[in-house]
Amino acid sequence: MNAFNYTVSEYLRNFINGEFVDSNSKERFEFLNPSNNKILGTIPAGSEKDVDMAVKAARKAFESWRNMSMSKRSEMLHEVARLIRKYKEELARIETLNVGIPISQTRSQVERAAENFDFFADMLTKLSEEVYVDDDKFINYVIRSPIGVAGLITPWNTPLMLETWKIAPCLAAGDTCVLKPAEWTPMSANKLAEIMQEAGIPAGVFNIVHGIGELSGAALVAHPYVRLISFTGETVTGMEIMRNGASTLKRFSMELGGKNPAIIFADADLKRALDAVIFMAYSLNGERCTANSRVLIEESVYDEFLSMLAERVEKIRIGDPFDERTELGPLVRPEHWQRVKNYIDIGIKEGAKLLYGGDRPKGFDEGNYLSPTLFADGNSEMKIFKEEIFGPVLLAMKFKNEEEAISLANDVVYGLTAYIWTKDVERANRLAQAIEAGMIWINSHNVRDLRTPFGGAKYSGIGREGGKYSFDFYMETKTVQVALGRHKIPTFGVI
Ligand code: NAD
Repeated sequence: MNAFNYTVSEYLRNFINGEFVDSNSKERFEFLNPSNNKILGTIPAGSEKDVDMAVKAARKAFESWRNMSMSKRSEMLHEVARLIRKYKEELARIETLNVGIPISQTRSQVERAAENFDFFADMLTKLSEEVYVDDDKFINYVIRSPIGVAGLITPWNTPLMLETWKIAPCLAAGDTCVLKPAEWTPMSANKLAEIMQEAGIPAGVFNIVHGIGELSGAALVAHPYVRLISFTGETVTGMEIMRNGASTLKRFSMELGGKNPAIIFADADLKRALDAVIFMAYSLNGERCTANSRVLIEESVYDEFLSMLAERVEKIRIGDPFDERTELGPLVRPEHWQRVKNYIDIGIKEGAKLLYGGDRPKGFDEGNYLSPTLFADGNSEMKIFKEEIFGPVLLAMKFKNEEEAISLANDVVYGLTAYIWTKDVERANRLAQAIEAGMIWINSHNVRDLRTPFGGAKYSGIGREGGKYSFDFYMETKTVQVALGRHKIPTFGVI
């Protein structure tokens, strides 16, 4: 079905101390092409020993990497960005092949991956800190220093973009790292390692250990030399990681799940809201932490908006992710397809009205294809209202007034994003204050400014990355207090 003919390096290795190396473990497992579930290749089930080797390489490299001049480090990271752009098409194709996201969307993600490196390379040279002068007695100033080895653990939904979102600020901060990519989608990480080599990033600064979360991921979390863990993934995995990292007192950044609302008031520009809601529900195959998987619609425009929605969802172009026109590709794995399908069945049992989709589309007998699915008449008791499905499934329900909209928006354990659609500026800002979420967009879909903090409230995460917040996480903040004169010092023991 797909005409893609990139020769896959079927036997992926770990990347440790600047080289691709075999694992100490003989065990390997397969990763698949979501379009047909044929095997694309294998990765090692990275062992504790692999993790230890990678962490030690990163620890050794830390000494010189942290001391490299800022301008040199910045230059090297810009070079990584340049090379990501040079290999943009290849990277986008790898990502589409391995994840199933349509090529037009993976291209944007690769561009974002390059931007991540450019952005943090620039930011590194522009960081400023606080200084406090205490009359003529003291000058107190703040400096930041790199911390050491970071463990970066990433999910399968947008592998390259999320990996670079962590790697770029981590290296810019002067830390070194070991990346544990998601086991289903390891391909682009290895291409990134080749890029690191070509960019001249010193051996040991960036390492990869593949494998199963509960083994190689857990070993990384438990390793005493690893000082920081930046994790993106499911909330329950985040909880487990925090438990496992407690005995070595890790610093954590947790970017977790979401069940985000789009709230449509009757006075909104309904056409723009419609475009945005559809994009934020079905782009990236709906496998998107910031997806608006719940659309809350004001009663007076509920029927109108819903019928516009149904009409458009029906026309979403599902197909070969290598086809430039495809809008929705196959889900990442058969196991994930089944998980999403189970939620759809639950939604039907719970009494939500299935307006479109709900199953495999006609003509797609192989691969993990699922029609874009639209439910209406939801209520807040439903599982499909409360739980993250992480697929192309949107649930619509109505609200009477502002208070009810806020209460429904907040009636889930998650709090990652919310999208508010209204022309009433005061109301929009009241909602922005009242909704429990880390990021709110007013009259917009998710458009990121890399300078702003990214992260979630409640069960959607702990901490923020992005802009200077990434440096807060990846660096130690130190205060230096300097006496300017001969201030009074207590004189214990002097009679
Ligand atoms: P997951 O939690 O199953 O796995 C994420 C990573 O953690 C993988 O690399 C996995 O191998 C590893 N892992 C699993 N168990 C581990 C353990 N005990 N110790 C260490 N590592 C372990 O998540 P997933 O299914 O790959 O991704 C989907 C989830 O990610 C969704 O919940 C989605 O909302 C979330 N996500 C959040 C954001 C965000 O920024 N908030 C972005 C993208 C995805």
